[in-house]
Amino acid sequence: MDINTLTAEMSLEESPRPPKSAKREGYLKWEDYFMGTALLAAKRSKDPNCQVGACIVNRENRIVGIGYNGMPNGCSDDTFPWDKNNKQFYVCHAEMNAILNRNIIDLKGCTLYVSRFPCNECAKMIIQSGITKVYYIYDKSPNKDVYIASKKMLEEAYVQFEVFKSEHKTIVIDLTPPLNINVS
Ligand SMILES: [Zn+2]
Repeated sequence: MDINTLTAEMSLEESPRPPKSAKREGYLKWEDYFMGTALLAAKRSKDPNCQVGACIVNRENRIVGIGYNGMPNGCSDDTFPWDKNNKQFYVCHAEMNAILNRNIIDLKGCTLYVSRFPCNECAKMIIQSGITKVYYIYDKSPNKDVYIASKKMLEEAYVQFEVFKSEHKTIVIDLTPPLNINVS
């Protein structure tokens, strides 16, 4: 028995691999992909206290809008205030930006993936846009009036909302080339 056969047999015993024609295992699920996209968008936020990302998906699993919390276009991130008492007057929330950034006209039946449970103002936009499902990771202040109002409106308008669940705690994105690729 030569060494190649032996190695092949050993690796076969240790971890049975699917045949080469089979699809790859461990690929990103749709839901993780969409929430991951929302979280990646949140990384663009300049808010020092709260970075929120949102991703809207249609019924064909196509991403149709992405947004994060930020100052309106033309309002400088450097001159407008980011402190908790004043930013509320200026900042566009992630959900609002995702809805306004949409690349299709009608969001009817779409699903929104957002890191934080939407406020009442965003809930209004979600309802009016036709989005029917919201996945969120956390609800930071469920007892605050804005979130109580948000839930009340979403429920009344039959927009489902649900805490996002995943098998994974993290998705790692490596920006460097694979080790076996020679980059010149
Ligand atoms: Zn909001």
